[in-house]
Amino acid sequence: PKAPKVGKAGKGAAAPAIKVSHPERVIDASTGLTKLDLVRYYESVAERMLPHLRRRPVAFVRAPQGIAGQLFFQKHAEAKFRGLTELDASLWPGHAPLLAVDTAEALVAAAQMNVVELHTWNSTARSIDKPDRVVFDLDPGEGVPWAQLQEAALLTRTMLEELGLRSWLKTSGGKGLHVVVPLAARATDERVKAFAHAVTDHMARTIPQRFVAKSGAANRVGRIFIDYLRNGHGQTTAAAFSARARPGLGVSMPVAWEQLGELKGGAQWTVQTARDHLSFESADPWADYWTTRQALPRWPGKG
Ligand code: ATP
Ligand code: MN
Ligand code: MN
Repeated sequence: PKAPKVGKAGKGAAAPAIKVSHPERVIDASTGLTKLDLVRYYESVAERMLPHLRRRPVAFVRAPQGIAGQLFFQKHAEAKFRGLTELDASLWPGHAPLLAVDTAEALVAAAQMNVVELHTWNSTARSIDKPDRVVFDLDPGEGVPWAQLQEAALLTRTMLEELGLRSWLKTSGGKGLHVVVPLAARATDERVKAFAHAVTDHMARTIPQRFVAKSGAANRVGRIFIDYLRNGHGQTTAAAFSARARPGLGVSMPVAWEQLGELKGGAQWTVQTARDHLSFESADPWADYWTTRQALPRWPGKG
């Protein structure tokens, strides 16, 4: 069949039509969603997603045969990644250049190259060793009711508030929630990770019925692991608006804290429903995220 062309994506995006190969290929058998559905999804959210991607090293989960086939986690430039930004090779010595998605055109091109998920570093190429955010990835263990995850997100927010830090919430598109704290890019990634670790340890010590600070599925049965490990150098987290290579094609959706109580799950919004949701949204719940630049609090023993 003739490859359909996908048009201009978003305002001000100089995205010429791009040819989509295998547009009719079903990539998720559970919904019948096709590669073209995914490309159109990314085109429709490009304007909202790009601020989360620009200048930030990205890692992809590619699913050339759909999400039931082999998945490829890729962080480096390859010939077939033309159209994306290759970041300065000195950012990660000894590896092929890291990549960034800086334009709507590149985002749509990535989807055309069977990228389903986009994961990003916590820092931008501007200051690669100084994160401009901390991520608390709330990972429910086996048997944790959703209400406890909602409660955990609120507790995390409250703890951060006590430390003078505003945080923002998004669904992961999978099982959990992500709490994100924007920072002025001043502290080293080592310090930022130590801070995240200290917060996690504190939560696990004070509310051990709910939280664990040790990774590993066996440790978290019935409890929630606050995955501070997302904050190490070169670590990544699924970006806001990223689709997920899991049945249903959930998407990571930024939400307002006021919405937390109504949330139904980490995959509440999907490639199929995100656009409608966004069109009914009265305001961007993360609007102030971009102008909030916070410093890490002083932390005992961590300087
Ligand atoms: P959930 O809400 O279901 O936990 P999640 O996106 O938070 O969804 P996690 O399993 O908690 O999923 O996080 C996995 C993390 O590991 C991601 O942030 C991802 O960037 C990172 N990662 C590192 N290597 C890989 C890999 N090979 N494949 C997938 N993810 C990887
Ligand atoms: Mn998680
Ligand atoms: Mn995790």
